[in-house]
Amino acid sequence: MIYLDNAATTAPCREAIDAVNKGLEVFGNPSSLHRLGLDAELLITNAREIIAESIGAESSEIYFTSGATESSNTAIFGAFRAHGKRKNKLIISSVEHPATANPALQLEEQGCEVVRISPRADGRFYAEDFINAADENTFLISVMYVNNETGYILPVQEIFSGIKKKYPQILTHCDCVQGYMKLPVKVKKLGADMLSLSGHKIHAPKGIGALYLKRGVHLPSLIYGGGQESGFRSGTESVPLIAGFGAAAEKLSSTVNSRYKKVSALRDYLTKRCEEESITVNSQPDASPYVVSIAVENLKSEVLLHYLEKKEIYVSSGSACSKGKKSSVLGEFGHSAVSDVTLRISFSSESSEADIDSLIAEINNARSELAKLK
Ligand code: PLP
Repeated sequence: MIYLDNAATTAPCREAIDAVNKGLEVFGNPSSLHRLGLDAELLITNAREIIAESIGAESSEIYFTSGATESSNTAIFGAFRAHGKRKNKLIISSVEHPATANPALQLEEQGCEVVRISPRADGRFYAEDFINAADENTFLISVMYVNNETGYILPVQEIFSGIKKKYPQILTHCDCVQGYMKLPVKVKKLGADMLSLSGHKIHAPKGIGALYLKRGVHLPSLIYGGGQESGFRSGTESVPLIAGFGAAAEKLSSTVNSRYKKVSALRDYLTKRCEEESITVNSQPDASPYVVSIAVENLKSEVLLHYLEKKEIYVSSGSACSKGKKSSVLGEFGHSAVSDVTLRISFSSESSEADIDSLIAEINNARSELAKLK
């Protein structure tokens, strides 16, 4: 089996699986005052410290959620509930994941002004376009770090620092799902007041994520109940999932640079092989090497995806989250002409050149077999 769909989800690592199992065995309720409760709480505290340290934050600034979708919803609706009575402008990029784009749409339907900044004709984002769109009426700017369909790295640091210089009161949120543990992510450097993370993109289980909330930023909680997570996100914590998230983050945090180097070499190899075989690479050369968008002329992406699946090669057409719905993201980046024939190849550090050779060989087989059927 060749798995090249790591932007959709990753295989859990051994360390995460062991930590989940331990979290199941340590079954006390972390809110209980007795020893079983304290043992469970300790696992949460440990994971919180690891994740905080990995992004240069304090433990008290990390809130566990059910995943990045919940984190981003909490950030966006929370910012609106905190400030929306006086200010009602929200700025996002036009290529956000639905976890950001759809909460923005909901707010727009409630009368909020949503400004969506697009890339320019060269397919690139410019910080000044975001900064120029901001004004006294803006309560939040939410920009993703790495685009999940093309790997494009948005100039988040430049955008947020420019915004904060002119309007220090505007809140900044960054969806870091496709950047975390792949590129260095430090909240202070990025200038993010809020940041969303997901476990299952870093070899941890699904259903767990985190929201970083800078100290001093107060948002109303979306979930009220027993007051867990410092009263911000009630509900008994999922100790096994949190422990798994912490274990995966601990494993990966010391190898961000070496894995980046390895995956960059794989991306370069894929690019070379694509050039040799007249396959177009949509992703720009300075995109994250973990996500490579390619277009195979005359082969509909879904047909090719299922052909490859029969050969036990797993890739994605466009983005896993836009299943059944055509995503507008490739069009935003200027690739609408090839959006029907685009595949997303996404690596982990376990991927290899041999995987790429098999992928290219099977794409070529598909070209000749499917051409015969025409
Ligand atoms: N943001 C981006 C960029 C993503 O790629 C994804 C998942 O595909 C999400 C948010 C949602 O994350 P989760 O599955 O943890 O809700």
